[in-house]
Amino acid sequence: MARKASGAEAGEAGRRHRLPLPKVMTVAELHERFGTDENCLEHLRKVRWGEGLERFACPACGHVKGWWLGKRKLVECGACHHQTSVTAGTIFHRLRSPLHKWFWAIYQISQDKKDIAALELAKQIRVGYQTAWTMLHKLRTAMRSRDQRYVLQGLVEVDECYVGGQADDGTTGRGASNKTAVAVAVELRADGRPGRVAMQSMERPDTHSLRKFAESKIEKGATLKTDGWGAYASVAKSGYQHKAIVTGSGKQAVQKFPWVHTFISNMKRMLLGTYHSVSPKHLDRYLAEFDYRGNRRWQEASLFERLILAAVGAKPITCRQLITGAS
Ligand SMILES: [Zn+2]
Repeated sequence: MARKASGAEAGEAGRRHRLPLPKVMTVAELHERFGTDENCLEHLRKVRWGEGLERFACPACGHVKGWWLGKRKLVECGACHHQTSVTAGTIFHRLRSPLHKWFWAIYQISQDKKDIAALELAKQIRVGYQTAWTMLHKLRTAMRSRDQRYVLQGLVEVDECYVGGQADDGTTGRGASNKTAVAVAVELRADGRPGRVAMQSMERPDTHSLRKFAESKIEKGATLKTDGWGAYASVAKSGYQHKAIVTGSGKQAVQKFPWVHTFISNMKRMLLGTYHSVSPKHLDRYLAEFDYRGNRRWQEASLFERLILAAVGAKPITCRQLITGAS
């Protein structure tokens, strides 16, 4: 027999009722809502242009009125009669796989803390490995372009680390052989908790690369909290405040820079756990995925919708650009 809720529990339940937490979509719900290409396309149309095409702008002439040609799944411009497909100019541009398979990939990649490798996705949606790999990397470029709209502000821990190469051979620190240098920045909020995170590979760990990283990811005027390495003092001169903390042992560095080290070890675990060997030319896209997830770590339930929005807003990218590492 069910126990009667105590006053406190009833109050708790009442509060929950007034403020329902958004639920993560189940696999069954995904199939029901997005099991067909037609449903997926309809959803993309609404996300991109709004229910009544109120956000439509003709790519040919810029006119903002158009009408939906339902049968042909195109919008026709009211001025120049140019016809635009829902997927044109997005990462779904000229897609080769059915849209519902893309939605499945987005669902998988948006599951918090459950990274998906291309091989696993290929099995799930019955496509070739290369197709699954391309889908995931296109989604990672969409994540990156979404995050490029933000810069880190306030107090920001900055450090570098080294990933890839051979299995860890014990070489650590600046100039470690065989490895790719990665710059890492984490915002520190007033309550001592971490805010946004940004990571990017560097050709070499030097002042020039670190400055480029800082200028693209951190707002000018912010305070860089770094170790005592001279390169950071030089970077700070290009418009930042600087708080240098000299650390001795590795253990001390972890204590003085707890968040940057937490994110670094989580990122390395992701690379080892899911993406066994990551080529340096593709590393930045994996880092973009890591940042994207990290920056939305409290928004698990809405990650699927957010990623659809990111995919619709990102520029198309070709397989060739992905494979050659041009993007
Ligand atoms: Zn037009």
